[in-house]
Amino acid sequence: MPDFRTTGLPVPIPKSKQNVPERALDEDRRTSLSESDCSYPGSPYVNVLSPGASCRWGNMNIPVQKNPYGFQAEPDDDDMAIDPLNLGDERDLAHRIFVNRSLHLDKIKFFGFDMDYTLAVYKSPQYETLGFNLVKQRLVAMGYPNELLEFYYDPSFPIRGLWFDSHYGNLLKVDAYGNILVCCHGFRFLKQSEVYELYPNKFLALDESRVYVLNTLFNLPETYLLACLIDFFTNAPNNISTTTGVKSGDLFMSYKSIFQDVRNAVDWVHEKGDLKLKTVENLEEYVAKDERLPMLLSRMRESGVKVFLLTNSEFWYTEKIMTYLFDYPFGSRPGEPHKDWKSYFDYMVLDARKPLFFKEGTILRQVNITTGALKIGTHTGPLQPGQIYSGGSCDVFTELIGAKGKDVLYIGDHIFGDVLKSKKLRGWRTFLIVPELVQELHVWTDKCQLFKKITCLDVMLGETYKNLDSSTKEKPDISSIRSAIREVTHEMDLAYGMLGSLFRSGSRQTFFSSQVVRYADVYASTFLNLMYYPFSYMFRAPAMLMPHESTVAHEEPFNADNSTFSRSRQTSVLDGQETVNRDNHVVAPVKTKVNAKVFTNTATVLSVLERSQSVVPHIRPETPRKVTHNHDEDDSEEESDKSA
Ligand SMILES: [Mg+2]
Repeated sequence: MPDFRTTGLPVPIPKSKQNVPERALDEDRRTSLSESDCSYPGSPYVNVLSPGASCRWGNMNIPVQKNPYGFQAEPDDDDMAIDPLNLGDERDLAHRIFVNRSLHLDKIKFFGFDMDYTLAVYKSPQYETLGFNLVKQRLVAMGYPNELLEFYYDPSFPIRGLWFDSHYGNLLKVDAYGNILVCCHGFRFLKQSEVYELYPNKFLALDESRVYVLNTLFNLPETYLLACLIDFFTNAPNNISTTTGVKSGDLFMSYKSIFQDVRNAVDWVHEKGDLKLKTVENLEEYVAKDERLPMLLSRMRESGVKVFLLTNSEFWYTEKIMTYLFDYPFGSRPGEPHKDWKSYFDYMVLDARKPLFFKEGTILRQVNITTGALKIGTHTGPLQPGQIYSGGSCDVFTELIGAKGKDVLYIGDHIFGDVLKSKKLRGWRTFLIVPELVQELHVWTDKCQLFKKITCLDVMLGETYKNLDSSTKEKPDISSIRSAIREVTHEMDLAYGMLGSLFRSGSRQTFFSSQVVRYADVYASTFLNLMYYPFSYMFRAPAMLMPHESTVAHEEPFNADNSTFSRSRQTSVLDGQETVNRDNHVVAPVKTKVNAKVFTNTATVLSVLERSQSVVPHIRPETPRKVTHNHDEDDSEEESDKSA
């Protein structure tokens, strides 16, 4: 029997102080930092040095003149102290859900779940190792050399979201626009000059005839296998490498053909091979289960929402996996008897063929839950409780359950199939599961000394140029700072693994990162984190700051070189009361204060127009008196209209 406390919650993971951001802040408020705790540049990262502090690097002691990252570490009024990193969410870091776009759970009427890597999390690296070995064996059966069998899966190498350029046989880590951040040929990391030779401007367009995006967790074994194969064929004795493939005697093997063989082998292993059989034969080895699952799903339904399963997996496999996930002697709470997994869902759709499901879809058919056979004919509804359906389309499904786009929060791990398509085509709200977040957050907090080192080096770079302007003839030597930045950045990247973080490379965000920001409304390492939020919770997105916002404190004095005028229509910033005539035309001269300089903005002085003299219906746009800017996707049209 699990250990439940009076709340009925399973005993939470003890709050580990070393993993909470407060620690970073406490340390940040120290007044000096030693060489060992200086840190990361150009930080999109948070401010780690308080004004008045100093930092050391080697023999240099650098005073920090100002907070370079835009917020006060310690507000004047202690009562008003706000932790800018932790806006209202005090939950343990391991239980946190992160927000790209505001989401009001109260508005959600349907929680939808993907199964693979969402409800059923495959254990890493055991599951990837299984996939890697099966694909490797398949390639040998297809005629690839037996030496391949000597390769073993190395989880420290691959990350999700890499691009494989089948023309040159390179694995690429790119930013949102296709600019190359890291380039690997086999196990060899190409130098900058080599990258420039192959890719003009270090850029590659996302051309699907050439580039394959290794988007999913299922792609991890083949990502590493591609590196193994390219390395093997490139370096094998008697082989001659060319830019697009390898020659051996009269034979030429293009990188593209290697890629196609690997893709075919992976598909075969998933569809016809032993991957699923071997998984269900040893579920404990490959699938993580969590006793919070039945409780969370029950609480969702008790809150008044409907819960559905929407997976691409077929019946026999789903049945085995889901039975295992709900295999506890208790039901939705301690003392309650065990219940079949199907009783936790209002609707169940398998063989969904996402992303096709979100477009034209397939025929919706009912599954015989005793035999697994599909009933003939198209099911036209309604969807019966406790019954399982196969295929269908989003159009048909949402009509049968009576859901509108924004009513659904769909929870899945596939950035393209689950999140991008459901949001783009159907307007569903999206919750992306990123299991790698556990490791990403661990490095983020565990290696805070490296981040601080980079910030310190950044400050030192700024100090080097302090008091210099365009009249300066001397050229400060920044070579040691630059090489220190490179070294620390490299150390930082390696802390995540050979190819660095899933989300960034140094201070640059990856393609994967940009997809997450664009399509996932919220994201977390597991959907189980919903356990720690009430179903009325309002997830608020933090502001996405531009450099001129993230590096400038609101309190910083700003002395404009040139006179300017206020474009504000807010009466509160006007020097004097704005006068509005009965047709909402401003008639009084407007004076605006900018840094104690007062100037009359003649451009905004409008002459009084007698309505009788004018044939123009509106001589000037009316100053909005209510909300006109809609930032929050969750505002219902009704609320929005009311406040406007
Ligand atoms: Mg999945």
